[in-house]
Amino acid sequence: MAEEELIQTPKGMHDQMPEDCAYFSRIENACRRLAKDYRFDRIDFPILENAALFKKGTGETSDIVEKQMYTLRTKSGEILALRPEGTPSVVRFYLEHGARTWPQPVKLWYWGPFFRYEKAQAGRYRQFHQFGFEVIGGADSTLDAQVINIFYRLLNSLRIKDLTVEINSIGQLAERENYKKALVKQLKKNQSDLCPDCRRRLTRNPLRILDCKEATCQEIVRQLPHVVDYLSPECHQHFQEVLELLGELNIPYRLNPHLVRGLDYYTRTVFEIVQTNDEEKKALVGGGRYDRLVDLLGGPPTPAVGGAAGIERIVQAMKESGRRVSYREKPEVFIAQLGPAAKKEAMRLFEELRQRGIKVAEAFGRDSLNAQLKRADRLGVKYVVIIGQKEALEETITLKTMSTGQQRLVKRSQAVSLIKKRL
Ligand code: AMP
Repeated sequence: MAEEELIQTPKGMHDQMPEDCAYFSRIENACRRLAKDYRFDRIDFPILENAALFKKGTGETSDIVEKQMYTLRTKSGEILALRPEGTPSVVRFYLEHGARTWPQPVKLWYWGPFFRYEKAQAGRYRQFHQFGFEVIGGADSTLDAQVINIFYRLLNSLRIKDLTVEINSIGQLAERENYKKALVKQLKKNQSDLCPDCRRRLTRNPLRILDCKEATCQEIVRQLPHVVDYLSPECHQHFQEVLELLGELNIPYRLNPHLVRGLDYYTRTVFEIVQTNDEEKKALVGGGRYDRLVDLLGGPPTPAVGGAAGIERIVQAMKESGRRVSYREKPEVFIAQLGPAAKKEAMRLFEELRQRGIKVAEAFGRDSLNAQLKRADRLGVKYVVIIGQKEALEETITLKTMSTGQQRLVKRSQAVSLIKKRL
């Protein structure tokens, strides 16, 4: 008979190993601490949203919506999408729950899985995880700096090295439209040298050409005008203030005139936090100001700024900088048992020790004392409790100190407090 083929995870989607879950917890704890310090409240929102949210918010011509969104039709005919990013959901949340009437700005953070039908490769998955920090209802440049600062401090607290903030300003809509016109005019002269994708972008979304990875396009991009030269005095001033604040906060930044981040809703500040080493540059965080998004989603014009970090990329960076996170706590005490009455007693003692906060291990599924002691040795515990038939009957335990090999008989009633005292 032919062997059944094993069903595996879908392409670009991964199981998380216990070790990875431990890294995730470490990062989530760091987020929680920073959220508390900077007074951001945690929210969660559905993994499935109406596809229209991303079409209107993220933009129909963005790669995320045009090429990468997983959509489905429900039995009743709704068109839903697996969320490809978090920012539109946070804004929907803000509008749906009347957060406009809360004290402004509203500071929220989130954490969870996101989905994009990407070309699966190292560091780029179809299911990945992000956390985001968003500030809605504030236009001040200090908020742009605060968001960047939070992500930077967070990566720093995880001891990730070689970080740089890349930053640019893409101005407001009118300025960007002028800039786009100038771009298109110049690019049309070199149209035939652009890659097929960029030739299409020329009419649909010319700003995307600036971050094309093709060598021939990059050569053309180098000759193009910079968006900052098209900014209004107010946008210039705002950008200048953000840069000065980053300087005050000692955050290393680099102006990147080609950073545009390809989404329609961005205005003014756009940034990425990248890790650069000799071989490559990896984006860990991306974000910016999005003064248009609340408006695009049917709310009143409301300024906002935020960003999102890629959790798998952060885990990778932690591993590469030699940061180890253990996923199993080392136990202090091992309980070995021999015989049915002893096993019951051992299980009761396990609970008592555990409830007193003692880290305790067992191998109740094993009956050979030898095998249990071997396990205790491998785990490197300080003490082994041995309960045999005799001990169970006489209401005692044998306590073995592993460093000396010394054994003593202890009354069962005194066992927990004695062990607690010794540890
Ligand atoms: P974005 O939402 O595209 O601005 O991405 C923000 C961050 O999420 C990036 O800097 C990456 O660290 C991470 N990220 C985005 N897309 C993926 C993906 N397909 N796989 C893994 N991480 C991703």
